[in-house]
Amino acid sequence: MSQWSLETKRLPKGAVLIVGAGLAGLYTALKLAPRQVYVLTSRRSKEGAASAWAQGGIAAALHPDDTADAHAADTMAAGDGLVDPEIANILASEGPDRVRDLAKLGVPFDRKDDGSLYLSLEAAHSMPRVARVKGDTAGREIINVMVKQTQAADHVTGLIGWRAESLLSDGHGGIAGALARRDDGSLLGIEADVTIVATGGVGGLFAVTTNPRTARGDALGMAAVMGAKMRDMEFVQFHPTAIDIGRDPAPLATEALRGDGAILINKDGRRFMSDYHKDGELAPRDDVARAIFAEIEAGRQPYLDCREAVGSHFPDHFPTVFDACMSAGIDPRMAPIPVAPAVHYHMGGLATDSWGQTSLPGLLALGECSATGVHGANRLASNSLLEAIVFGGRAAQMINDSHIAERKADMVRSQPWLAMTAEVSQTLRNGMTKWCGVRRKAEGLNKLLAQIDELINQVGRANPLVASRIIAASALAREESRGGHFRKDFPDMAQSAISSYITYDMLD
Ligand SMILES: Cc1cc2nc3c(=O)[nH]c(=O)nc-3n(C[C@H](O)[C@H](O)[C@H](O)COP(=O)(O)OP(=O)(O)OC[C@H]3O[C@@H](n4cnc5c(N)ncnc54)[C@H](O)[C@@H]3O)c2cc1C
Repeated sequence: MSQWSLETKRLPKGAVLIVGAGLAGLYTALKLAPRQVYVLTSRRSKEGAASAWAQGGIAAALHPDDTADAHAADTMAAGDGLVDPEIANILASEGPDRVRDLAKLGVPFDRKDDGSLYLSLEAAHSMPRVARVKGDTAGREIINVMVKQTQAADHVTGLIGWRAESLLSDGHGGIAGALARRDDGSLLGIEADVTIVATGGVGGLFAVTTNPRTARGDALGMAAVMGAKMRDMEFVQFHPTAIDIGRDPAPLATEALRGDGAILINKDGRRFMSDYHKDGELAPRDDVARAIFAEIEAGRQPYLDCREAVGSHFPDHFPTVFDACMSAGIDPRMAPIPVAPAVHYHMGGLATDSWGQTSLPGLLALGECSATGVHGANRLASNSLLEAIVFGGRAAQMINDSHIAERKADMVRSQPWLAMTAEVSQTLRNGMTKWCGVRRKAEGLNKLLAQIDELINQVGRANPLVASRIIAASALAREESRGGHFRKDFPDMAQSAISSYITYDMLD
């Protein structure tokens, strides 16, 4: 037993520990019935999960004229050569039934008078494909239903208020649970035969983000130091239209506004997107983000002008955006909304197969912290909620169909947690935004890596530092521009499209 020995709770034989209570964690928990599941989360879902903040909705080929092939083709086009076609086909073909399953579970999707789903058009989709709930409140409504369902389910136990800090080793290269801490400082080792991480994204590693601040790649850090393989870690998506009113996290002006005809203008009132991309406001996200960033760099503050396209319908159709604007004294019916790009989604993550299995036996990863290869270099809008339920459902099916071997934790080989101070955290966030943001180059990335190493020397290999180090090193290694990754010093796309794989020991 190491010097940080602690109380350990062993879950019943065959029970699953899920870390994270966003859509990926909660949907998987439901689908694992009747197997016992323990869902550990640092925050209640409505506060800590990006899932609850989703505005646009969930994409699936549900329109009678749409097909899974078309959805998969759009997914691959957005991913700029790095999407695994087999995985995109799984997402697109299994997606519609999973969305219908959400409706059966009680999600009140918006419908037309004839009862069919109201589907909206979002950027880079060739069809209206995004199922909405009560305008722009899809995430909140979906999570409300998931929370209600899991609370009512006998097989699910919630461990709320516990932050997972590290994974427990089984002593043979596999994972046998997690070590978690409560706000009062108490520590608990939870031993489990199967561990699933579903901790969401990495926005909290950057200074400007739309994500909950607790989304800081904890699963990536925890798994990396245990030897897990990561994929495409350099690919971070910047949402082009975060509302630029100096808030942390930055509120979002959903893509659906541009789908409904809102336009981008600069401070001179000039519509500028056609200078940057033939698809104008409906160009892929990274193109729109870079165009907005270029306008900001040129001193021409960009705005999203919804006055004509949405106008008086704003409070009913986009209540979340409306409230955010009004709280900053901007009435979007009368005035354009100031916007800026913000870190929004991480395409990279723990490399998994199509059943959620990572390279470490006993450990699965689902949702945003995973990298199945479905997003490639850039995520197609509203594919991430779908990913959470499609691959969450598959993981549950695979676990329930498998013989689960017993795994015991080897506490000596498990890693202790290392804490970050507020100052270290802010230094990291500023550095990540400055040097690993919308436009990157070798000089800045090298400065960032040196800074992260210095912070690691100060506080040790804390999860956010480990996750950031891998993102920055992967960004430095990719000497081309593709999808969400833009290198000022390598502005062209390389001829061959190759996913990147990395383990933490490759950096030492
Ligand atoms: C503002 C906004 C709008 C979006 N709009 C859309 C949209 O319209 N459509 C779409 O498809 N996608 C959208 N996305 C992206 C989408 O919401 C996320 O990619 C997706 O919900 C991720 O789900 P998840 O379950 O993987 O993670 P999350 O929903 O983020 O859940 C992560 C969970 O892990 C917990 N957690 C984190 N770290 C720890 C830890 N160390 N220990 C214990 N618990 C931990 C959190 O508290 C939380 O419960 C949006 C994202 C944002 C931020």
